[in-house]
Amino acid sequence: MVQPPAPEAELDLSFLEHLLASPDGEPILSCMQCGTCSGACPLGHAMEYPPRAMILQARVGDMSPVLSSPSVWMCVGCYTCTLRCPREIDLTDTLWPAVRDEALQKGMQPPAELQTAFQNLYMYGNVLGQSPRKRLKWADGLDVPVLDLTKNPQPVEIIWLVGCYPSYYPRNQVVSREFARILTKLEVSWGVLGVKEKSLGDCDRLFGEEGLFETLVESNNELFERHQFKELILLDPHSFRALQQFYPRYGVDIPAQHYVTYLAERIDQLRPLLQKPVNATVTYHDNCCVGRRCACFDAPRELLEAIPGISLVEMARNKDNALCCGGGGGGMWLDAHITEHGGHRLSDERIRQAAETGANVLAVSCPYELSRFEDSAKVVGVDDQLVVRDIIELLAESMGLSEKEKT
Ligand code: SF4
Ligand code: SF4
Repeated sequence: MVQPPAPEAELDLSFLEHLLASPDGEPILSCMQCGTCSGACPLGHAMEYPPRAMILQARVGDMSPVLSSPSVWMCVGCYTCTLRCPREIDLTDTLWPAVRDEALQKGMQPPAELQTAFQNLYMYGNVLGQSPRKRLKWADGLDVPVLDLTKNPQPVEIIWLVGCYPSYYPRNQVVSREFARILTKLEVSWGVLGVKEKSLGDCDRLFGEEGLFETLVESNNELFERHQFKELILLDPHSFRALQQFYPRYGVDIPAQHYVTYLAERIDQLRPLLQKPVNATVTYHDNCCVGRRCACFDAPRELLEAIPGISLVEMARNKDNALCCGGGGGGMWLDAHITEHGGHRLSDERIRQAAETGANVLAVSCPYELSRFEDSAKVVGVDDQLVVRDIIELLAESMGLSEKEKT
């Protein structure tokens, strides 16, 4: 329930003033309380204070019930509310981080799992709490050379920022090895940053941990400045978006691409290498960062359609209307909190939508989604119909570079 306005004597407009002073904060005054944002939010039904209600409380100068509500930690950063708002108010990247920052300032604690992820990020430079010394473990025994630029600095065309999950998580390490083979086959000059690579931050900024984010921006920028390269390539769409959208606010403006656009630009070079048919009916899940946020819908489909044997079918909700998997914006560490407070795992709902298409492969292009959807397929009971594969795995299979063929 939205609280009635506090008596005038208790009004505290400091949060609203702080919000209005932030970049992109001013349009919040134009909110007409239409409720489109709350209705469009896939978790809005479970939020006591969805975006519309948060703005109302900020305007009436009474944020205390909002800050103590579980709603503060329920947004998964999917960007649907921002895209749908008729007043183009930046809810996802301005309102939510400000509310969370205020909650932290007032001593509220984020859910325990999320706190652990932040502590890991602070101590080890990755959310998984793994040793930085193991950053290159994914490449053990790999049959193509991996140039570690921190040991052997030299100019390269691209630096591949491998990312946390692709470096450490066994299921994602397979995809990393296959991507390394694809880059090598394309005769690209590429290198990695090995033990020096750190998370770029993203979920920490969305969760009001601006200080931690700033520290990461600073140390990553120092690292990038030590190397000569044309652009950064990333497997993780959240990190790509952080680089594209938030790093420039700190004066760090580096050319970067997510791998789907990078490979789609090389489609003419790739096509003759895609020799083996991958006989499958595939449906593609648009991740929120490359998809809804960056409106990149064609590149992943172009890659999939170039693979012989693949028949592409669409889910009813696709492209900018795709349902979020619930893993972004810190959502990977919020499942317990969200379900405890009346929400549900969006990946479970999404895998049902994928199964309804009749596809036998759900293709993804985000490291979080492999494990999320594989788990959801088991939970929902569609794992005998549907397998989850990164686009990289499907390309590698058609190129004869997949892990299966190499072992
Ligand atoms: S959609 Fe925009 S204008 Fe409508 S209530 Fe939400 S923030 Fe306000
Ligand atoms: S970004 Fe997504 S999850 Fe967060 S409030 Fe907006 S619609 Fe809901």
